[in-house]
Amino acid sequence: MRPSPLTLAAVALLLGVPLLLPASSFYLSIGNYIAFGALVALGLYLLTGLSGMTSFGQAAFMGLAAYTTALLTIGQGWNPWLTLPLGVLIAVGGAVVLGGITVRLKGHYLPLSTIAWCMALFILMGSWISLTGGHTGLRGVPPVSIFGWTLGDSRSYFYLAWFFVLLGAWTAWNLTNSRIGRAMRASKGDAIAAASFGVNPAVLKLQVFVLSAIYAGVAGWLYVHYQKFISPTPFSLDASIKYLIAAVAGGVGSIPGVILGSGLVTGLEEILKGLLPRIFGRTGNYEIIAYGLILVTILMFAPKGLWPFIERYLPKAKAQNPTGPGLPARLAAGPAGEVVLEVHNLTKQFGGLLAVNSMSFQLRRGEILALIGPNGAGKSTCFNMITSVFPPTRGEVRFKGQVVSGRMPYEVHRLGIARTFQHPHLFPEMTVLENAALGTYARTRRGLVASMFGLAQAEEQAALAEAYRALERVGLAQIAHQKADGLAIGQLRLLEIARALASGPEVLLLDEPAAGLRAGEKRQFAALIRKLVNEGVTVLLVDHDMDLVMGLVDRVVVMHYGEKLAEGTPAEVQRNPKVIEAYLGEAA
Ligand code: ADP
Ligand code: MG
Repeated sequence: MRPSPLTLAAVALLLGVPLLLPASSFYLSIGNYIAFGALVALGLYLLTGLSGMTSFGQAAFMGLAAYTTALLTIGQGWNPWLTLPLGVLIAVGGAVVLGGITVRLKGHYLPLSTIAWCMALFILMGSWISLTGGHTGLRGVPPVSIFGWTLGDSRSYFYLAWFFVLLGAWTAWNLTNSRIGRAMRASKGDAIAAASFGVNPAVLKLQVFVLSAIYAGVAGWLYVHYQKFISPTPFSLDASIKYLIAAVAGGVGSIPGVILGSGLVTGLEEILKGLLPRIFGRTGNYEIIAYGLILVTILMFAPKGLWPFIERYLPKAKAQNPTGPGLPARLAAGPAGEVVLEVHNLTKQFGGLLAVNSMSFQLRRGEILALIGPNGAGKSTCFNMITSVFPPTRGEVRFKGQVVSGRMPYEVHRLGIARTFQHPHLFPEMTVLENAALGTYARTRRGLVASMFGLAQAEEQAALAEAYRALERVGLAQIAHQKADGLAIGQLRLLEIARALASGPEVLLLDEPAAGLRAGEKRQFAALIRKLVNEGVTVLLVDHDMDLVMGLVDRVVVMHYGEKLAEGTPAEVQRNPKVIEAYLGEAA
């Protein structure tokens, strides 16, 4: 994707204006501090905006890189360009250790642990006087030079700092619009749904945590080589909080938002520092109070930050329908009629409730099997055990001969099982097309680094084309670029089916897919399922509409109170007196 004319204009303005100012201008110095903050905030965009994690520890990562570069350049005379990767590496090391322990933690534990981490490092920097000079700090950090040209004044440093911000924004933007970024947004929105499409949330979280530390590390390096002095103060918890507030005030959900936020907070701080003593007649830290009040006001009126508020008034780029051949088909499946999925003595106990009790059945390749039964019979619980959302209490699930019970949901999906949920698990913030494209996650390969540097575009194009084709098949292509929130329930179900289709599954598990569809839509749905089966997909279906089920499927398994009551062709099952009494009779 190309940058919009508006982005290009903003960048041109950013690069042009400094030429009109004196090289040591106060405004350029503010511009530099905005850049340092913007880099940290871009890391927070990835962490919070994309992945839903919160960190109060970003300044500590800055500090690790900053002290590494300061100590090696002052003490050992190293070139700052050598200490940049080294400092960043140390920050990464810190992030791996901290993240490895904490990113799996739920709720408030991660932010709390980042607070502890930031405070601990701050104390260390302040008290290891023989190394860091303590709170007095260290002087004599050398400036950065490029090809013998020293970036000693604010203007030349401005270009260096904003080069990194633009690089950071570009890579973050590429990442956002890639399979990895989609998976991050998906795990933030609904971890179960993301895992059901092959995403391993723990790995992504650690990756993004490390990535945010890289952004902060680069900012730390820039910071000390601009100040030419280092002390622990800029790496305190206060500073971390300031970066987080900046990101949130500008709009942590978008790239321009966090950059704007950094400008806002840094600019505001400078203005208030000058203004408030004149109002109150004394010097003091009034700006902290005023600046808190202003931020609270912004958040009250623009809870997602300032940027979404501004964005509304900007012209929108028209989304293009993806074209192209889509992804290569999966390898040809085995012979029709062989057992693909086997459930054996599957049992699930929720406290005192035996939701599923010793269920056994087989699904053969190429067939449509219905699992029916009254509400609460345990059908969805069976689905959840087959896809490893829940571990079974007893029994096992085999897919193509391999035991899959006990594996993670993302592993089960990668073997070729796709599902829909009875209560749709979609991502309201994403477009219909992006929702469907999550289905292609396990069929595509490009990783984090390739995605960030724009090297995954061919694959991404194919993935989007595949997702778009899936939308066409279920009849949702005309709303592909709409956000998924506000869709009717029938459309949500069709979108779940499209997402499952985009994964090119061997076995499709559909949990009440036709509930909420209109009569015409149900006929289309039945035609679609028949077509898929002709293409070699095997279907396990739960639904309540007896006309639909009996007319569509090859075999039926009837569940009642967690147990198997009957099994056979639709005609056999419909004649079975036990079934009539327990289920059909009740319905009639
Ligand atoms: P069905 O899909 O056939 O309508 P379910 O599998 O959803 O039935 O539910 C079977 C039984 O298990 C119900 O009594 C339900 O309340 C219970 N149940 C389902 N999921 C859970 C859960 N996560 N925790 C506790 N009980 C559950
Ligand atoms: Mg159910």
